[in-house]
Amino acid sequence: MELKRFEKRVLLSSATMHGEEQAFIKEAFDTNWVTTVGENINQLEKGVSEFVGAKGSVALASGTAALHLAIKLAGVKQGDVVFAQTLTFDATVNPVMYEKGKLVFIDSERDTWNMDPEALKKAFEKYPECKCVITVNLYGTPSKLDEIRKICDEHGAILIEDAAESLGASYKGQMTGTFGTYNSVSFNGNKIITTSGGGMMLSDDLDAVNKARKWSTQARDAAPWYQHTELGYNYRMSNIVAGIGRGQMLHLEEHIARKKEIYDRYREGLKDLPLSMNPYLDCSKPIFWLSCILIDKDAMCEHNRTDHEGTYTVVPGKSCPDHIRETLESYNVESRPIWKPMHMQPIYAENDFIKLNEDVSADIFDRGLCLPCDIKMTDEEQDIVIEIIKSCFGK
Ligand SMILES: *Cc1c(COP(=O)(O)O)cnc(C)c1O
Repeated sequence: MELKRFEKRVLLSSATMHGEEQAFIKEAFDTNWVTTVGENINQLEKGVSEFVGAKGSVALASGTAALHLAIKLAGVKQGDVVFAQTLTFDATVNPVMYEKGKLVFIDSERDTWNMDPEALKKAFEKYPECKCVITVNLYGTPSKLDEIRKICDEHGAILIEDAAESLGASYKGQMTGTFGTYNSVSFNGNKIITTSGGGMMLSDDLDAVNKARKWSTQARDAAPWYQHTELGYNYRMSNIVAGIGRGQMLHLEEHIARKKEIYDRYREGLKDLPLSMNPYLDCSKPIFWLSCILIDKDAMCEHNRTDHEGTYTVVPGKSCPDHIRETLESYNVESRPIWKPMHMQPIYAENDFIKLNEDVSADIFDRGLCLPCDIKMTDEEQDIVIEIIKSCFGK
């Protein structure tokens, strides 16, 4: 196959619109519900709650806002220890800092790349006072949610599930976004469905949901005038934005099916290379939000990363994530490094990190790469991406 630079950029993951979104926005305009109240918000909350099987939900301006309210609901205060998965986007953990909590990072396991239940147990031995744990379902793959939930219950800690990347994924038949006491999803532009920017806090605790809704609209008390006893936020989703989400919900399952096809095509196309795909447990159904590769240890070329750049020396038959990423880029193809673990970030240099033996998350960051999996990518385009990756290994 002849490899040419793509004229149109092949994207990692971008918004895919269908038409209904605009119809719901038009409805909001026509009825003049151009505010943070309206039918689009109501229907989006209802639709997502019913889809995942949560009793209640609050539509918010972002997934980060949902996590912040979850942290507040969990009662995290200055100096409180919070355990969080280290291998994630910093949006997962920043809200703990907003409340001045003390973050302790937990390493990942190899089976799902998410929080290692054994490392979590070890963390509770060191910090038995911890009352809040945040787990993530990275790239759409459920973590070992029942084990993590059980350990939290045994220690009287509240579990927050960051399901920002996993809306529609399930674990042992139960949807992600329902395992935590408080759960968050994101509708950011590149997620499985989008509202352009937005998020949702989900919980079976309806009092908590009502509290979060109140906090999200400046915590107004019931009074004829503006009366406040608590600190509030301007975190509510707009009814215009919710119209996009309402239209997208009609296509969520179609998006998930397409993401799985892309993952399967990569797995098949790359099967002769010294690498593996992002793993998952058979008892789970991931949504394959992103397809990722992990290069075998003995197929890694010499490489080095500073805080701001990666260098490498290619030898025949070997490669590394920065080599593949830069090669793809030269063909106008977007790829992305694995999230750099939080315990490796300068901002969290002082925070404790609990691992078993080897630093698993650092190793996944070192050897892993997220491949383009925009659902509008054609099979032909994907086949070329596969050939480019093969060429990095001299095949
Ligand atoms: C996208 C994302 C978030 C935050 O969502 P926003 O809607 O962008 O605020 C949180 N956690 C993870 C793991 C994410 O990928």
